Amino acid sequence: VTQQTQQPEVNIGLVGHVDHGKTTLVQALSGSWTDQHSEEMKRGISIRLGYADATLRKIDGVEPPECYTVEETGPDGEATERLRTVSFVDAPGHETLMATMLSGAAIMDGAVLVVSATEDVPQAQTEEHLMALDIIGIDNIVIAQNKIDLVDRERAVESYEQIEEFVSGTVAEGAPIVPVSAQQEVNIDLLIDAVEREIPTPERDETEDPRLFAARSFDINRPGTTWTDLAGGVVGGSVVQGKLETGAELELRPGREVEEGGASEWRPISTEIRSLQAGGQSVEEVSPGGLCGIGTGLDPSLTKGDALAGQVAGEPGTLPPTREEFTMGVELLDRIVGEDEGSVEEISTGEPLMLTVGTATTVGSVTSARGDEAEVKLKRPVCAESGAQIAINRRVGARWRLIGIGTLQ
Ligand code: GDP
Ligand code: MG
Repeated sequence: VTQQTQQPEVNIGLVGHVDHGKTTLVQALSGSWTDQHSEEMKRGISIRLGYADATLRKIDGVEPPECYTVEETGPDGEATERLRTVSFVDAPGHETLMATMLSGAAIMDGAVLVVSATEDVPQAQTEEHLMALDIIGIDNIVIAQNKIDLVDRERAVESYEQIEEFVSGTVAEGAPIVPVSAQQEVNIDLLIDAVEREIPTPERDETEDPRLFAARSFDINRPGTTWTDLAGGVVGGSVVQGKLETGAELELRPGREVEEGGASEWRPISTEIRSLQAGGQSVEEVSPGGLCGIGTGLDPSLTKGDALAGQVAGEPGTLPPTREEFTMGVELLDRIVGEDEGSVEEISTGEPLMLTVGTATTVGSVTSARGDEAEVKLKRPVCAESGAQIAINRRVGARWRLIGIGTLQ
């Protein structure tokens, strides 16, 4: 197998309520436990979202759907054919991590919504995550009705009908509902079949300007490393278009804040791509799908501690503008989803909002609000194209709640 064929080509989010079995399902599909992600930690390109790559295969001489597997050989030692490698993004179900889930959604090509058969439908984050998929426009969805090993046939049917009713009228209407047991690895073949049909690899245009959304950045040097041995700063993230290549020049925006003569301004950072890591190995080029790590020529103090998370990287001169303030078209939800649901009040001038744009999360203050438009001034600038989608969160009680979606003008 060549390096190129092992790189994941599509990102699939795992969403749904806490404890419904997302992490267990990723483990069943990939054989790795994303909650630990120790291997990725070592490589240093794991992000707060768990990532796990899985190669989906087809057993030679076996009919669908039984032919679908993630094992390298069939149960009777049959050879398998590789279909594709996918990257599962295991979004946290805990409600306070909604922003993290949304920033992961910016790089998702489809999603598996995990719903436990043991609980009534919908639970709070089942609904909140589905709404997030809806407003972000992720419509390639497979529903995994999980934990069927814990319920009797009657409850399984009832839960199935509850799911059908819940998704009707949403972006997930008509999505296949696959009864599974992630823990007992039951019906994983049916789930792979559904993923293959419903979540195709998007068409990629390799001639587009390369662009990466940075989700992490760090310093991989041990304390006390002498400067002659210092490795340059590392940036981890996901390529969203085009192709990154080793040796190429790289620009990061917004870059860094520079103070000069009492004034401060954000300036893009320039460096080069010294090395690339993807699918667990060194590669010469990286296309969209999965996570990659870029070894740069930057001073590691610039990349330390996720300092560049949320930035956009690409070929110098091709990146969208850095914006310290912007106007966005606003589409508010009818009501706040979750336990203490209530209606969503209009955005008002002066209120703080938490905005997720790509992988960047920033707080902004509303300088002008008028119906379906709002102007915001950001605490930290973002690099974003006009037309970019923005998840809008408002402080309600102790936490930020999703209240709508914005479109950058
Ligand atoms: P997450 O919060 O959605 O990531 O849920 P986890 O994957 O961490 O699972 C929560 C709990 O449910 C764990 O104790 C799992 O072992 C258990 N679990 C997950 N899937 C199944 C299943 O299909 N059957 C049974 N019996 N338990 C499951
Ligand atoms: Mg989990």
